[in-house]
Amino acid sequence: MKFLLLLGVLGLLWWVWKKRQRSVGEQVPPPAPAAENMVVCAHCGVLMPESDGLKDGLLFYCSEAHRLAAGSTKH
Ligand SMILES: [Zn+2]
Repeated sequence: MKFLLLLGVLGLLWWVWKKRQRSVGEQVPPPAPAAENMVVCAHCGVLMPESDGLKDGLLFYCSEAHRLAAGSTKH
């Protein structure tokens, strides 16, 4: 009798988990990871996604330090 109750609880938990997983999948479409533009750091040449880079005019930098370093050599 106790075993049946445990089985029922586990079945209910599985059903809730399945239902939740499916509703999440329906609401949020999978993002496209390869769609992002890749840019090159103007100071060291490292490749990075556009959202990770620091934009300075037409150029991109991998970090604030490289943006400042490139800026100081320019002037
Ligand atoms: Zn860099």
